[in-house]
Amino acid sequence: MRSAASELHFPQGLSDRGLKQPQRAGFATQISKPRAKPAMAFKEIFWMACDSTEQLRAEYGPFHTRAEAETEARKLGFGYLLRYEHILGEGEEIQEVRCIFIELPGAVAAISEVIQTTLHTRCATCGESAVHDQPWQAEVWADIHEFEHSRHRVRLFEHSRGRGLKEICDWRG
Ligand SMILES: [Zn+2]
Repeated sequence: MRSAASELHFPQGLSDRGLKQPQRAGFATQISKPRAKPAMAFKEIFWMACDSTEQLRAEYGPFHTRAEAETEARKLGFGYLLRYEHILGEGEEIQEVRCIFIELPGAVAAISEVIQTTLHTRCATCGESAVHDQPWQAEVWADIHEFEHSRHRVRLFEHSRGRGLKEICDWRG
């Protein structure tokens, strides 16, 4: 017998169908059996991958395990999972829908890191500094600065939001 917390098992292949509304299938015969405690409600749980918590978000799924939804979310670059719970009544009708967003910390950090990491060069000798998007730009700046000012030494720092500045040592080889 299903326990209240057991997960919904979709028939094979359902998770490959893409962006469709969650479906309920596969255990109709099991549910229609008379039960000893008829008043007991139970839950169906399934997971979606989604790109934000906004109302106009993209959702992909459903998946019957969190791990599957998480794998798919990471493939798509989505930063969130959505856990749906259907509270079912006696006649297996849906009485209540609950959904909970779960942020994937790694995924969100990885996405924002790509956008928000900048490189900072600063001369340890005279204090002149500059900001760059690409590593080669930092190298060119340092080359020119050290060429124009003999015995000046340029240091490189990486700046990412939430983590601050981090020096990259020995970057000039
Ligand atoms: Zn300098």
